[in-house]
Amino acid sequence: MKNRTLAIIKPDGVRDQVVGAIIDKIQKNGFHILAMKLSKLTKESAGEFYAVHKGRPFYDELVTFMSSGACVPIVLEKENAVAEFRNLIGATDPAEAAENTIRKLFAKSKGENVIHGSDSDEMQK
Ligand code: GDP
Repeated sequence: MKNRTLAIIKPDGVRDQVVGAIIDKIQKNGFHILAMKLSKLTKESAGEFYAVHKGRPFYDELVTFMSSGACVPIVLEKENAVAEFRNLIGATDPAEAAENTIRKLFAKSKGENVIHGSDSDEMQK
């Protein structure tokens, strides 16, 4: 069944001018773009988005990073979109990500890892 997932190209991707290359990769992997915009998160909204990580040592750094510049949230559709997109982005740490995944190709560190993908249908984040 076709379903939807939320991707976010993080501020490092916008800053490094790889938005086009990442979207190209996403589309070539069969995802359809249903909605997309350029948007800057406030610290508060970034904090809410990642509330599940509150209390973790990297939380403040993550919230500061995610609100440090524009990002590109994208709603995608495909068969089994959530799991398929998690496969396409690769492991959280680009050093551990599989070849040809978005994080392996474009990310620099575990914190600044260029893209977010929902990890469940339930939360859609
Ligand atoms: P994801 O689902 O692969 O994005 O990973 P998580 O849900 O575990 O973490 C959310 C985000 O927090 C990651 O994408 C990273 O941007 C950041 N993050 C996770 N672990 C670390 C860490 O150990 N150090 C830093 N600096 N950031 C981290």
